[in-house]
Amino acid sequence: MLPEIKGLNEECGIFGVFGHQDAAQLTYYGLHSLQHRGQEGTGIVVSDGQKLTGVKGEGLVAEVFTTEAMKDLKGSAAIGHVRYATAGGGGYENVQPLLFHSQTGSLALAHNGNLVNANSLKYQLESQGSIFQTSSDTEVLAHLIRRSGYPHLKDQVKNALAMLKGAYAYLIMTETELMVALDPHGLRPLSLGCLGDAYVVASETCAFDVVGAEYIRDILPGELLIINENGLTSERFAISTTKAICTMEYIYFSRPDSNIQGINVHTARKNMGKQLAVEAPFEADVVTGVPDSSISASIGYAEATGIPYEMGLIKNKYVGRTFIQPSQTLREQGVKMKLSAVRGVVEGKRVVMVDDSIVRGTTSRRIVNLLKEAGATEVHVVISSPPIKNPCFYGIDTSTKEELIASDKSVEQIRELIGADSLTFISVEGMMKALGQEGTNGYCLGCFTGNYPTEIYPDTLQYYYQK
Ligand code: SF4
Repeated sequence: MLPEIKGLNEECGIFGVFGHQDAAQLTYYGLHSLQHRGQEGTGIVVSDGQKLTGVKGEGLVAEVFTTEAMKDLKGSAAIGHVRYATAGGGGYENVQPLLFHSQTGSLALAHNGNLVNANSLKYQLESQGSIFQTSSDTEVLAHLIRRSGYPHLKDQVKNALAMLKGAYAYLIMTETELMVALDPHGLRPLSLGCLGDAYVVASETCAFDVVGAEYIRDILPGELLIINENGLTSERFAISTTKAICTMEYIYFSRPDSNIQGINVHTARKNMGKQLAVEAPFEADVVTGVPDSSISASIGYAEATGIPYEMGLIKNKYVGRTFIQPSQTLREQGVKMKLSAVRGVVEGKRVVMVDDSIVRGTTSRRIVNLLKEAGATEVHVVISSPPIKNPCFYGIDTSTKEELIASDKSVEQIRELIGADSLTFISVEGMMKALGQEGTNGYCLGCFTGNYPTEIYPDTLQYYYQK
């Protein structure tokens, strides 16, 4: 019997620097710009060439890295992490980077993504004597590296990576090297930049802008970059690669000022709004978007239809994202605290409300209600993603299949449940067109279509499809 899966749902941000005297400070700023990818915990490990030193804690970047805490972080290489985890995977011990010490040296790991064979590997490793300190699947890589039997770290890492399945963007740091690896499907974004002679790596390019770094390129699926005092070398650890970047990064998760594979996230969202104007052209008085991730799409819808865009909904910026609150009760409370309808804008008006996704439906119902309570005469909901019918196994918290409203309900049934006058989801073809693509090659659409780019292991399926 395999152990129960814990903490598989997570979405995180990573940032690394090699060859800069202010490595820890730069990582602090980089992580700050990636804060939207995880607010539950954060950490930085720095190398001075002799030893690795880490600071981590639960909370936001600005809360954990006080001036006092930053004083200990001296060195010219650093990696950092912002973490989001579900209830089972929270806790201080799971906050990354994870730091391991052994007689042959130290190793720090930061991971964005989710392994689909973590439990099978953990089970194997435990039966061979490994003892895990965390419930995070990231620790699996450390054990695989140390057990690989190869004499050189590079080969140990390549061998260990080849055993992993799922989504992973890893930063691996020793006293003298920074290694950067992306899974063979390139499911999560990861980019390389430079700052003078130093190299920087980040989950999103918005972090480069914040620290003044110049974008060089995206990390390739199945690539292992090794950065040390001799410069940068690129190797492959996977023979077969098929690119499948997460489409939800464009729709919801990434910051609008980031570029993923050369596509600006704001522009992609705006194009989705324009496409929705073609697929769902309503007669209405105002277009409004659910802040912040749907503003770009609503601007696109307004521009394409000529209906004025108005600020019909206001967000209280000091409340975390509804999507990533851990319980249903908290989610519902979160919505009430987070959004208000602007009566002066929507009263007596036919409103087109643009949102990026419907996950459980509770948020949409509440927002439609807010607009109607504020006097909107009609609320037409247009969604810039196709219906999410299946869970994500790769690190975006769409939760279990039974919690997804579109998994067993028609669009009409969902419309009725959220109380809208109409409901339209963008088509898969329309979404791809908005991304400038003719087909779906190169993109993951698993949560929409059920076609996942990797094999999904039975113990993972059991968790996500629980009844
Ligand atoms: S299943 Fe959906 S959310 Fe998960 S990686 Fe694929 S597109 Fe992204």
